[in-house]
Amino acid sequence: MPIIKNIVILTGAGVSAESGIDTFRSAGGLWEQHRVEDVATPEGFARDPDLVLRFYDMRRAAIQTKEPNAAHRALARLDAEWSGELLIVTQNVDDLHERAGARRVLHMHGEHLNAWCTACDVRSPWTAPLIDRPPCPACGTSALRPDVVWFGEMPYRMDDIYAALREADLFVSIGTSGAVYPAAGFVRGARDLGIPTLELNLERSQGSAWFDQTRLGPATELVPAWVDEVLGGA
Ligand SMILES: [Zn+2]
Repeated sequence: MPIIKNIVILTGAGVSAESGIDTFRSAGGLWEQHRVEDVATPEGFARDPDLVLRFYDMRRAAIQTKEPNAAHRALARLDAEWSGELLIVTQNVDDLHERAGARRVLHMHGEHLNAWCTACDVRSPWTAPLIDRPPCPACGTSALRPDVVWFGEMPYRMDDIYAALREADLFVSIGTSGAVYPAAGFVRGARDLGIPTLELNLERSQGSAWFDQTRLGPATELVPAWVDEVLGGA
């Protein structure tokens, strides 16, 4: 087996699920009784901004009551101890990777705890509600929206992700189906580059066929075991 120096990890909803954070998928296509089209698209926001702002105010408040789990902590330990390159690309918009202590995290779908000013394009850390249209800390305009990538919008920093993949010796996907683009593109890209691919997931997914190896089980069990293995063999 070739020596592993650079690792790219993709994390998804399955990592945060055991911290009590659900998604529209786990909730059967509804989020707090709302349709995805109404609360997670630019069109929905244009149609009813109050509904969307209230919805994200609720999600933003909720994640601040959740705690990182053993999977987040194991990845933070890997981040701290791994001497090679490491990038944790997450589809999650919570801050549990960071609260566990991870530093090399890229939020491709944005972050609940940021507000994005559509007037000046500045992103500001944000923990409070947005429903009352507070002014942007940078420009003073009341034009803040959740800094979350909605359906139909472009995920963030795709160039950085592909650049990291090109240098990677291992691609690991954790708690994500791997069947939905652009995540599906990462594993296929890794395969095209001849990079070994590993999936850690609760159950076999549509994307499993693309991985060299799949391990099935809860993230809080699989991830600490895998991190022990990687650090032990390093
Ligand atoms: Zn602004």
